[in-house]
Amino acid sequence: MTATDKARNFLEQIIEKDLAEGRVPRIHTRFPPEPNGFLHVGHATSICLNFGLAEKYQGECNLRFDDTNPEKEEQVYVDAIQEDVKWLGFQWSGDVRYASSYFDTFYEWALHLIREGKAYVDHQDAESMRLNRGDFNKPGVDSPHRSKSVEDNLAEFEKMRAGEYEEGKVSLRAKIDMQSPNMNMRDPILYRIRKVHHHQTGDKWCIYPSYDFAHGQEDAIEGITHSICTLEFQDHRPLYDWFLENLPVPAKPKQYEFARTNLNYTVTSKRKLKKLVDEKVVHGWDDPRMPTVSGMRRRGYTPASIRRFADMVGVSRSDGTADVSMLEHAIRDDLNTSAARAMAVLSPLKLVISNLPEGEVQEMIAAAHPNRPELGQRTLPFTREIYIDHEDFTEDTTLSRKKFKRLVIGEYVRLRSAYVIKADDVIRDENGEIKEVHASYVPGTVGEDPPEGIRPRGVIHWVSATEGKQAELRIYDRLFNHPSPDRGDEDFLNHVNPDSLRVQKAWVEPSLVNAEPEQGFQFEREGYFVADRFDHKPNHPVFNLTIGLKDTWASKA
Ligand code: ATP
Ligand code: MG
Repeated sequence: MTATDKARNFLEQIIEKDLAEGRVPRIHTRFPPEPNGFLHVGHATSICLNFGLAEKYQGECNLRFDDTNPEKEEQVYVDAIQEDVKWLGFQWSGDVRYASSYFDTFYEWALHLIREGKAYVDHQDAESMRLNRGDFNKPGVDSPHRSKSVEDNLAEFEKMRAGEYEEGKVSLRAKIDMQSPNMNMRDPILYRIRKVHHHQTGDKWCIYPSYDFAHGQEDAIEGITHSICTLEFQDHRPLYDWFLENLPVPAKPKQYEFARTNLNYTVTSKRKLKKLVDEKVVHGWDDPRMPTVSGMRRRGYTPASIRRFADMVGVSRSDGTADVSMLEHAIRDDLNTSAARAMAVLSPLKLVISNLPEGEVQEMIAAAHPNRPELGQRTLPFTREIYIDHEDFTEDTTLSRKKFKRLVIGEYVRLRSAYVIKADDVIRDENGEIKEVHASYVPGTVGEDPPEGIRPRGVIHWVSATEGKQAELRIYDRLFNHPSPDRGDEDFLNHVNPDSLRVQKAWVEPSLVNAEPEQGFQFEREGYFVADRFDHKPNHPVFNLTIGLKDTWASKA
């Protein structure tokens, strides 16, 4: 580590102190998702944090599925999460871990607590348990089953495991303190009956540990030194420490909490994202409008831009909401340097170059990127018929040069990477709409200034009408049109932006049909686009709008 790498946040300070004082020889972190949905942008920041710390301090980071709740979990999520972590550019230490592979140990530890008189099988139903738990103002009441003998508890727990009880009838609880001011300490549930198939352990178990009974112990088993989690688990820490004190664990991890990443115009809850998928508001978890890692990927976000965003949000100990424009800025910035330039005409107006013979194809050479020669060049066929954008032409000759830097009848404009042209005439259809613009090119102006007296108003983009290709463009916008879609009383689905997707055709320069899926481009003067990861094909090119060139929401606000 160099002096410039100094601690950037409270977690780094803690780690540096722990390393300096020898409390830990090296750090070991983990990212512990529950496989009940796809990862979202909030998880991405947690991934960048945990893997990033391990990288920075030459430690290790595990990927562990916290799979204690089989009803809501699925193998597809397990697979998608691994792919997302790798795509973000991280590699976990050793094999993927599963909380479920420690179920035998958890079971042993439950027996241990029973034998020590620190756990009991409770026969109260959920409702009585809830009532007897009390609340913040009211101490709890001991369960009538709390003082059963160790032998009785062992026998009852064995019956639970053997499937002799129905779901919801009994549970194993820790015997801690029903009067504790911390609700988590009021005899929390350790095991409950769930007669369901588990994606990893099959039908081996019909009792499953609670999240609280599993989480800290998983970290202990794996030798995690710094268990980093979000603030809502702060009140659970005394309970996790109680488990570490009262169980024969191999190590005692320390837990540190940081604030969740919230983003405006975005929902970051797997449950709500699942609702968007289930109710077909979007086309799936990886719909490019989704704030999921796979959605952002398909939208054209790069791993670098997401990691950059995670750095920008940083680590905080108090809740706040980040502006989604920060994320958009991160991708715009990245693509500005990394994306090749290309031309696409979204609203085509035919322009006939009358002094170029039909059938002639001139090859224009253009740099893939204005400042990065190493990205190479591309060839643009220039032909008698080309398309320009409707918005780039006007017959209104009163507009000042400053106001309208495009093509005006009787005047000159430069076609990007090609000639200076002059608009001579327009051809109209039966309704009086402009059908074609007739123009002439000025010879010798490719890469050269035009002769004295010819002053192009500006530079516009174009595509050959005969050599260019048609592509499908998916024009995406923010999924929600409300800054805090899931706060307040209204259903968040009411805040879905009805214009979040528009599909249209465009003419694109021919080389684009050979774009690799997931290759990003700046379509000059239009925005950043990416070849769709799944649907883009040479005979059916599909490009997704990643982000516009400018923040249009800022001006709306
Ligand atoms: P959700 O509420 O979306 O279901 P979760 O916290 O239940 O999220 P987990 O799979 O349990 O999802 O999360 C895995 C890890 O990611 C946890 O360590 C959690 O603290 C972290 N995490 C989840 N959401 C965020 C967020 N918005 N910002 C930062 N970290 C997050
Ligand atoms: Mg969770």
